[in-house]
Amino acid sequence: MTAIVGIIGFPLKHSISPVFQQAAFDHLRLDIRYVAWETEPRDVGNVVERLRQPDYLGMNVTVPFKEVVIPLLDEVVGLARRIGAVNTVVKRGSRLTGYNTDAAGFTRALRDQAGFDPKQAVALVLGAGGAARAVAFALADAGARTIYIANRTPTRAETLVSDLCSAGVDPVSILPLPWTSSRSLRAVLRESDLIVNTTSIGMKHGPAEAQSPLEAGDIPSRALVYDIVYNPSKTPLLVEARKAGARTIGGLPMLVYQGAAAFELWTGREAPVDGMLAAAKAAL
Ligand code: NAP
Repeated sequence: MTAIVGIIGFPLKHSISPVFQQAAFDHLRLDIRYVAWETEPRDVGNVVERLRQPDYLGMNVTVPFKEVVIPLLDEVVGLARRIGAVNTVVKRGSRLTGYNTDAAGFTRALRDQAGFDPKQAVALVLGAGGAARAVAFALADAGARTIYIANRTPTRAETLVSDLCSAGVDPVSILPLPWTSSRSLRAVLRESDLIVNTTSIGMKHGPAEAQSPLEAGDIPSRALVYDIVYNPSKTPLLVEARKAGARTIGGLPMLVYQGAAAFELWTGREAPVDGMLAAAKAAL
């Protein structure tokens, strides 16, 4: 019997997870099919319940359901509980367990692809949405010294800062957008070792597709600029960062590494990461 794994989200037509996850299953000759379940919000409960049937192994969860699925699961563990967002569901027996692999994917890409150790780093996180929460908790767990959070909607940044306090870092909220008119943000930029864009600014098909959250003149050349937006691969922010002479990393490795961690939870096998990265690059 072919086992089934899927991804639930809305909309889903731009997701490349089906491409690189299927490439990984095929590479290891696993009889598993990865399916895209584009789901209207009212149908999320039915999709989650269907996972309890024998041929399903679990699923990935993407926007806008990472928080919505939590009460529908039997348990939520580790960082997913602290972050308050689930991006991977694993079925064992008929029990559904929620995980968050975005945080691990972010840190692994930072270390393996950019050679950056976040321990004692001063990090500026742009955004305070679901991805920002994973990134900020990952940085806290990796020993970052100070994490600045900047977001358009101040209350969201403040909630994240107060949640981070329990992780023992020294988080600071700086407010608000637009970035360039904020004097305090300029000072923080000069101090930052790492600048991470977790907003959807610059994302293909998004409402701010052609924009960059920062301009070259604001970016210190000594910083590493990490844009977790993965489509396009060369985002407006990465273009600005290169103009400023800063090192850069895009979002594709994070996407693949979070997927690799999910793959390992479903299969118990080591994920063929190089093949997944190649398939993901080809799909973009
Ligand atoms: P989300 O929860 O909807 O959060 C979106 C964030 O972007 C919020 O902080 C929002 O600010 C901000 N934002 C959106 N449009 C803005 C604008 N025009 N000006 C200023 N701020 C704006 O979304 P998410 O799940 O965190 O995802 C955010 C991005 O990360 C997406 O592009 C997604 O593709 C990417 N992502 C990548 C990976 C990866 O593996 N590489 C994983 C997860 C997400 P407000 O709070 O003010 O609305």
